[in-house]
Amino acid sequence: MNATSHPNQFADAAAAVPLVSLRGVTRTYGAGDNATTVLRDVDLDIHAGEFVAIVGQSGSGKSTLMNIIGCLDRPSAGVFAIAGRETGAMSPDELAALRQRHFGFVFQRYHLISGMSAVRNVEMPAIYAGLPGGERRARAHELLDRLGLNARAAHRPAELSGGQQQRVSIARALMNGPRLILADEPTGALDSESGEAVLALLRDLHREGRTIVLVTHDPQIAASADRVVTIRDGLIVSDERRGGAGDAGTIVPLVPASSGPSGNLPGSGLGEAVGMAMAALVQNRMRSLLTMLGIIIGVASVIAMLAIGAGAREQVLDDIRKMGTDLIEVKRGARNVRGGGDDVRTLVAGDLDALSRLDAVSGVVPETDQSVVLRYGGVDHQVTALGTSSQFPHVRDWPAVRGVFFSPDHEQRYASVIVIGARTAETLFRDGSDPLGAFVLVNNAPFQVIGVMEEKGIVTGGGRHDRDDQIWVPHTTAGARLFGQDHFKELFVKIAPGHSLEAAEDEIFDLMLARHGREDFHLRNMSAAIAQAEAAQGTFTVLLGTIAAISLLVGGIGVMNIMLVSVTERIGEIGIRMAVGARRADITAQFLVEAVMVCMAGGLLGAALGVGISVGLPMLDDGWRAILEPQPVLIALACALATGLVFGLAPARKAARLDPVAALSRN
Ligand code: ADP
Ligand code: MG
Repeated sequence: MNATSHPNQFADAAAAVPLVSLRGVTRTYGAGDNATTVLRDVDLDIHAGEFVAIVGQSGSGKSTLMNIIGCLDRPSAGVFAIAGRETGAMSPDELAALRQRHFGFVFQRYHLISGMSAVRNVEMPAIYAGLPGGERRARAHELLDRLGLNARAAHRPAELSGGQQQRVSIARALMNGPRLILADEPTGALDSESGEAVLALLRDLHREGRTIVLVTHDPQIAASADRVVTIRDGLIVSDERRGGAGDAGTIVPLVPASSGPSGNLPGSGLGEAVGMAMAALVQNRMRSLLTMLGIIIGVASVIAMLAIGAGAREQVLDDIRKMGTDLIEVKRGARNVRGGGDDVRTLVAGDLDALSRLDAVSGVVPETDQSVVLRYGGVDHQVTALGTSSQFPHVRDWPAVRGVFFSPDHEQRYASVIVIGARTAETLFRDGSDPLGAFVLVNNAPFQVIGVMEEKGIVTGGGRHDRDDQIWVPHTTAGARLFGQDHFKELFVKIAPGHSLEAAEDEIFDLMLARHGREDFHLRNMSAAIAQAEAAQGTFTVLLGTIAAISLLVGGIGVMNIMLVSVTERIGEIGIRMAVGARRADITAQFLVEAVMVCMAGGLLGAALGVGISVGLPMLDDGWRAILEPQPVLIALACALATGLVFGLAPARKAARLDPVAALSRN
């Protein structure tokens, strides 16, 4: 019987067109002097329904030939066609689609993915064919059932015998209902009994209508085929057909061929990629966590620092607003001399009087402060003493709530009186005695307490100076008895209602310049102070952004590094996936999704940590304030996602561009 007259599952007319056809196929490895030609000018037709054995010694080129037939490899020269379609101009993805739909591979060493159960291994070709999960699982179980392996469906390859693993790999080869089964030394690693069982299975499959190409070095095994092609040193030296065995009168497909969509649906493909990535991450839990660490720290620190920064800014702005926005500060020294310097003695009582006389001014107070030690009873307490005038409650909008503030008369008499802050009163008079009228030693000089100030709750300066814990002293007395100088550190000028702040500022400047003859002072208004605080916050945000970018960059490099390691570790697995029909996009998606998931998991953990810090820190210590806004959290998460995409792409592409044959050989 002639092979071309074999009945097959395709149209009779198609019998004239071979299923695979090689014309003058040559495969050369290497180039130049190192070039070795492994296949020479091979002509071979295999028709649907045939059972062909390719036999030859080890190294004769059988696997090379089989890889070309299976579209895993391409000829260096010659023409290779499948069902009349030439493959020479096809893209890697078109070849992957052919493998997926037309070929089932069975390898000598099974090439199962070790981290997956038997049934997951069997399912894999259908994942890339886009078969829905339930249908896929059912079909995989059906196939394992037929091969007597259903009890082993949940076992990993390492828990199965060689014969069982080979039957799993045959089930996988059948998953997409291929036309052609390519088996490369399928019995080579098996004992004779298991080997015989595998051969019987292949004969059954042939009887049921499959086309089988069996590669073997063993002529005895080749004898089970109805056509034996012998290859020696890359040349076909004989091609013998025998009748009988291949007569497939009744063609009953083992399992109906997959009718599912032949392309990969984007949605389902992504779902599969997420599942596979999840499995890979869980398998390397510790490594995944370490990889995420950079991202976690980056995201957490950005969120926490922004929240705390916003809190600090609000605090500063609050304080400034509480101090009043209708104030102009006249400070000693030129603008760029920081703090004016203690030795700058330019603001004098005459300035105070002159400024008070301006129309636009409703009041002026000097403020000079210095640290002093208070003693009352057994209590020593260090506070700031503020030398100021009787107008302080008016100008700073800050009254005494008990007793009185000092009067102009106190000032003129150099009276030894003080008004104390609410907190100072609590500290000094903790025994419960009445502060009013009490004598307190200020740097060892006795002063009488005449009032207690309203509590403002203002904390200022980098040192977080508590403005409720200070004392107010007439500037005359303070100058003479405490500070040893009668120059002022600064003057606060309150602008009368109905006058513009800008015009008043110009007027004050002109007056001061006229009095001093040079610019040995500088002005600041509170709205400028607010702007300054906001600008400082802007700088802070830029700084944080830079830190965030750097930590995400470092985190991203860590992710890329681990992904490259992961790709290298899994080259064998990638080869298997390619052999069963994964396209480049599938492989790219798998590794990209994995990188993105690492980064997103790190981002979410980091966000949780950052939010925890922002919420927890103010609870631990009253001094902290944090304002948590959703925006930085979302931006940080988006950055984590982008990091995954950017740094996952290179490893994913590296994986997708692997050569299927080279990748498979790493198993
Ligand atoms: P067989 O399967 O018949 O044992 P192969 O087809 O695997 O033989 O290999 C045929 C010859 O090609 C061998 O000499 C082998 O060393 C060589 N060969 C196979 N793959 C490569 C490769 N990637 N690079 C160079 N030489 C190779
Ligand atoms: Mg081989």
